[in-house]
Amino acid sequence: KVRTRFAPSPTGYLHIGGARTALFSWLYARKHGGDFVLRVEDTDLARSNAESVNAILEGMNWLGLEYDEGPFYQTQRFERYREVVQRLLDEGKAYHCYCTKEELDAMRAEQMASKQKPRYDGRCRHRTEPREGVEPVVRFRNADDGVTVVEDMVRGRVVFQNSELDDLIIARSDGSPTYNLTVVVDDWDMQITHVIRGDDHLNNTPRQINILKALDVEPPKYAHLPMILGPDGTKLSKRHGAVSVMQYRDDGFLPEALINYLVRLGWSHGDQEVFTLEELIELFDIVDVNHSASAINPDKLLWLNQHYIKHSDPDHVARHLSWHMGNHGIDPSAPPPLREVVTAQRERAKTLAEMAANSVYFYRDFEDYEEKAARKNLTGDARPVLQALHAALEALGDWTAEAIHAAVEGVAERLELKLGKVAQPLRVAVTGGSVSPPIDQTLALLGKDRTLARIGRALD
Ligand code: GLU
Repeated sequence: KVRTRFAPSPTGYLHIGGARTALFSWLYARKHGGDFVLRVEDTDLARSNAESVNAILEGMNWLGLEYDEGPFYQTQRFERYREVVQRLLDEGKAYHCYCTKEELDAMRAEQMASKQKPRYDGRCRHRTEPREGVEPVVRFRNADDGVTVVEDMVRGRVVFQNSELDDLIIARSDGSPTYNLTVVVDDWDMQITHVIRGDDHLNNTPRQINILKALDVEPPKYAHLPMILGPDGTKLSKRHGAVSVMQYRDDGFLPEALINYLVRLGWSHGDQEVFTLEELIELFDIVDVNHSASAINPDKLLWLNQHYIKHSDPDHVARHLSWHMGNHGIDPSAPPPLREVVTAQRERAKTLAEMAANSVYFYRDFEDYEEKAARKNLTGDARPVLQALHAALEALGDWTAEAIHAAVEGVAERLELKLGKVAQPLRVAVTGGSVSPPIDQTLALLGKDRTLARIGRALD
């Protein structure tokens, strides 16, 4: 059975690189009817914190990447790591190293001076006596010659010379395990079949394979994903705008738009751009992942978001919009129904944040008119128009878009004005600005009382 995992270090929020790694692991498990495991790699006590754990869980939850097992925490598994380190020591596959920092520095300086690549030379391998007053680290005894081959599912065959892999530290002098050891033990214990992660870890992979082999464990398959770059081709960073997944929610993106966007960072299926989740699960395959890095493209994300806002079930969009309305202090259960606001607004909005900001007037009186719009539409000639509109709308029995449309048209005919000359003052009077859904729809959503009160206010 396929088992994949996402193994974030909780040292910050969930960023889009991490989210894409999680997504690919999740998709691979779903495609193969397997399990997706969440493992929190929190052994770096100085840099890990509970807030980051929550931020990562929140991000995964918002994206809909449910895990079948976990979250597991490495800090709760120290006993187990100690046991494995001890086994490697007992079997002579690891050894205590008593070298001091000064010794290591001197060794390094010597190697550099003779133009050798700096590496630990294994001088404690054969030491039998402990050294007084020095707490040793534990090093893994690597093979000196031969090669370690990584058959990567994305990059193909990558060959490492064992002579380049020095005897890495698997436990520090305080007994705490290091990254390469904990990953190996966890991938083994959690029966991970496919390790999908960023290619910044490719150099760790031969080390991990060698430790697994020393433990007589069949290594999992590996897939290393290419980097994500900024639009300018440099390493992605805050300077390129939002990188935290939750920032995308705050900015008004739908999670499915972000998922669709993330999957295309490194994966493609012909020239198809829009994929439902079902299609992704069906079509996604690791071997189709690009070998080269891909650059983010904010315009494409906006385009996808607009697509999903327009074409998703309005109730679904309304559920997400409701959070944004809450940010404006609006009770989303008050009338008019949010789903109708979505239907009226979705042709225009690129993001839900924008849609929310442009929908506040349906729920609460606006403070100020847009200055230029008011000057042009609420003064002089516009006043008799607004008076006529007030009278015609007040007389309406039926407050429907059709009835409103007929009434507004009637006013235009009577005053011998183009419809726009009537609709625009009305729009500014009831919304405070010059952009809104079609005027009949806008008034229908606003309700009769609010509409009349706002026309009255404009006439004051
Ligand atoms: N904890 C590692 C990281 O956040 C990932 C380790 C792995 O996937 O093997 O980069």
